[in-house]
Amino acid sequence: MGPELTKDIKSFTLVQLQTEMESMGEKSFRAKQLYEWMHKKMARDYGQMGNIPRSLADKCRERYQYTAIETVRMQESKIDGTRKYLFRLSDGNMVESVWMRYKHGNSVCISSQAGCRMGCRFCASTLDGLERNLLPSEMLDQIYAITLHTGERVSNVVVMGSGEPLDNYENLLRFITLLTDENGLNISQRNLTVSTCGIVPKMRELADRKLQMTLAVSLHAATDEKRKQLMPIAERYGLTELMDACVYYFGQTGRRITFEYSLVAGVNDTSEDAGQLSELIGGLNCHVNLIPVNPIKERAYVQSGRRAVEAFKNKLEKNGINVTIRREMGRDIDGACGQLRRRYMES
Ligand code: SAH
Repeated sequence: MGPELTKDIKSFTLVQLQTEMESMGEKSFRAKQLYEWMHKKMARDYGQMGNIPRSLADKCRERYQYTAIETVRMQESKIDGTRKYLFRLSDGNMVESVWMRYKHGNSVCISSQAGCRMGCRFCASTLDGLERNLLPSEMLDQIYAITLHTGERVSNVVVMGSGEPLDNYENLLRFITLLTDENGLNISQRNLTVSTCGIVPKMRELADRKLQMTLAVSLHAATDEKRKQLMPIAERYGLTELMDACVYYFGQTGRRITFEYSLVAGVNDTSEDAGQLSELIGGLNCHVNLIPVNPIKERAYVQSGRRAVEAFKNKLEKNGINVTIRREMGRDIDGACGQLRRRYMES
C-alpha cells in the first residue's frame, strides 16, 4: 500500500540521514547537504543538487525513493486569490491542497491521506473510502510545491484537507518534526493546526508530546445522538470521552482547543443546538469555528442561512464562548474538502 517509509529519503530526520550516510561509507556532512537540498531548497531531484557528487546521487537513487508530486490542476479564486491545487503522487493517487493569503501570512491546508475511512456524512473526501496514508514527505511536498509555485513563504500550515491525520499518526508526527526543523522550512509549532474528527486515544497520545500546535476537533453536534447521525466516529467515542480528552489536551499542552462546527440547515443549527453546545464546552478554554456546511452533490445537506449562522454565533457569545464564523474562501473553486479531487476523477 503505497511507498515505504524506511526507504523514503525525504521522510528521514537529519539524524537518520546521517546514520544512512555512515552506513553507506559516506561522510556525515553529506547528510546535512542532502537534507538542505530536500527541505530548504525543495529540490525536485538529485539533478538540482550542485554540491552532491554524481556517485552519491546514484547510490541514493538505488537505495531510496524520492517522492515528487506533480501539479495536475490549479484553480485560483477570483474573489480572494485562494488557490486550490490538485496533485498526483508517485503511484498515481491524487490529493488536494489549498493556499490562502491572509494579512498575517500565507497559509496552506494539506491532505494527510488519499481518501479517508472516517465516513463523515457531509464530507466528499470519504465517499470512496481510504486509498492510503500519505508519507511525511508527501505531506511536505504539498507545501514545497506550493511554495515554489507561488514564490512566497508559507507561514501557517493546517492539516485540514482530505484524510484523518490521527489515523496516520506516526507519519503525522514525523511530518511535524520535519516541518518545524530549523534545517528545513522551520515553521513554528504555534503556526500549525491539526484537525481531527476525534480519535480519543490518539488525542491523548498527542497531548503527552506537549507540542505547541493547535488541535482542532470536529464536533458538529452537541449530543451523541445527533453526532452519530453525522459522524460514524461518534459510535466509537462518546462526547463525554471526547471532552475528557480535550480537557487532558489543554492540561498537558496549555493550548486551547478549537472546535469546528459545520452548520447544516435544520440539522444542528437551532437555538437549542447552540444552548446544548454552550453547555457541553462552556467550562473549557476553547474557541469555536462555525462553518456553514459546503453542500456536496452526493448528499442532501443544506447550508444554514446567514441569519441562522448569526443567531447561533450570538447565542454562543452570550454564553461567554469565543466564536468566529469561518470566512468562506475560494467559494468559486470547489472549496469543500475532496471536491476537486472527486470532480477530476469522475471526469
Ligand atoms: N479528518 C479531519 C480533518 C479533515 S476535514 C477532521 O475531521 O477534522 C476538515 C474539516 O472540514 C472538518 O471539521 C470536517 O468535518 C469539515 N468538513 C468536511 N466536509 C465539509 C463540508 N462539506 N462542509 C463543511 N465542513 C466540512
